[in-house]
Amino acid sequence: MIDEMDFENRLVSMESLPEDDGDNPLRPRSLDEYIGQEKVKENLKVFIEAAKIRSEALDHVLLYGPPGLGKTTLAAIIANELGVNFRITSGPALERPGDLAALLTNMDEGDVLFIDEIHRMPRTVEEILYPAMEDFAIDIMNGKGQGAMSIHLPLQKFTLIGATTRAGQLSAPLRDRFGMLMRLELYTPEELGQIVRRSARILGVPCTEDGSLEIASRSRGTPRIANRLLKRVRDFALVLTGGEIDEQAARIALSRMDIDELGLDMVDRRMLLAMIEHYRGGPVGLETLAAMIGEEAVTIEDVYEPYLMQIGFLSRTPRGRVVLPAAYQHLGVPMDGQQSMF
Ligand code: ADP
Repeated sequence: MIDEMDFENRLVSMESLPEDDGDNPLRPRSLDEYIGQEKVKENLKVFIEAAKIRSEALDHVLLYGPPGLGKTTLAAIIANELGVNFRITSGPALERPGDLAALLTNMDEGDVLFIDEIHRMPRTVEEILYPAMEDFAIDIMNGKGQGAMSIHLPLQKFTLIGATTRAGQLSAPLRDRFGMLMRLELYTPEELGQIVRRSARILGVPCTEDGSLEIASRSRGTPRIANRLLKRVRDFALVLTGGEIDEQAARIALSRMDIDELGLDMVDRRMLLAMIEHYRGGPVGLETLAAMIGEEAVTIEDVYEPYLMQIGFLSRTPRGRVVLPAAYQHLGVPMDGQQSMF
């Protein structure tokens, strides 16, 4: 059991930390400013243009992929490009059908409603979303017991944009009501380098191309992490190397933060080492892994594994998770896994 790890404040966590709230100026506002995800952008451009030509609401969109890849940002951009209002809520915030009804009945024609973590919406709320999405009307109950009456409320035609880290957890009736299902992919280091240079410009920090690529290659394919590391490296550069972020400054800063060349931090390394040490590299069941590192299974699946799988360090098999040879090599552990690293 590894219990001293600080998951809450991991610098490479993909989930938003309180300090990310201040990064609004870094959020791109238009599709042209939004870097990467070319396929998704190309398709969206066509659908947005078509909706505008027909003066109709855009079809409902489901965006899915790991946290921090730009789902919320993209949803706001879609509303912006359509020239409509953008309203934002989340699955867990919609506790009762009335919460959703209040939002829906206040929407103007063509407006975008964004529901983050849509897979966490309660069932009773989901059920009023079906007719809202399909027929632009809702039926809500007014009053209680014998005097209760069902009221039929027509709605303006709107666009629902749902975001989820796990499309597989959505019920079929909900998934089927989206006209477009769009999967966001982890970004390449080159794309993240562009994002870092753009953010550095906005923050007014001098940053060389090499410096930006050094940060990018350690950001686990995730813009949110890239921006977060940029801000920390900026501090180190200011104090240690006169302000400019070049390759050397970025290297020094990132190794001081214990983030290695591939973006792995202490938690990743210890998770992999624990699997090697105690289970000879696996297979290790997800629940065992969760107990071992004191983290919820869904978080491991959504947040930590996608990147480790992408770089070929971990695979999911029917019998559990397995550490792959590339991880042994990176960690400097022989493949028989016998040598203790603790
Ligand atoms: P998600 O909703 O998928 O968790 P967000 O939309 O909140 O992710 O994105 C996290 C941050 O990353 C944003 O604040 C934004 O600054 C940055 N970001 C995301 N995608 C891009 C992109 N394609 N280009 C530039 N910056 C991006």
